[in-house]
Amino acid sequence: MTEVPGFFRHPGDGWVECACGRRHWGLVGAAGLLLVRRDDQGLVTHVVLQHRSLESHQGGTWGVPGGAIVPGETAVEGALRESQEEAGIAPGAVRVLGEHVLDHGPWSYTTVLAEEAPGHVIDVRPTDTESLDVVWVPADEVTDRELLPAFATAWPGLRARIDALGPSAPDDAAS
Ligand SMILES: [Zn+2]
Repeated sequence: MTEVPGFFRHPGDGWVECACGRRHWGLVGAAGLLLVRRDDQGLVTHVVLQHRSLESHQGGTWGVPGGAIVPGETAVEGALRESQEEAGIAPGAVRVLGEHVLDHGPWSYTTVLAEEAPGHVIDVRPTDTESLDVVWVPADEVTDRELLPAFATAWPGLRARIDALGPSAPDDAAS
């Protein structure tokens, strides 16, 4: 995430003083990409996690790639752009499965649920300075890592939601 104070890279970068009493990154909200691999039954086997730079807010923890939405972008567009910038994930290799919105009123965070598009194997790696590492992690080992607290809270429900989708249709190409 682009959360280094004073480092403004895109329109939309900046802090929001939220109704919840905390401040959040992203003047028009933020979005992240939960990119998974699934087995033949549609169950999540792996997920892309980003080890967040020590300079970032709650740095050193693991979460998903993402950041502030640029005004005019959809949450999906923002999540895909940030994921390409931070982790080398090509938007065309991703199939979007759905969205989950955490709505705080003046600020919201959208998790874009996605998998590799048919015929694509996505190699991830840090492609800017906001990540210490970006890796595919076995789904059952996600909670072994020190997670960003908000992601730790959301992960079980997001995983269950993707699992419940069932097997993906091989020719159901979205985006
Ligand atoms: Zn809030």
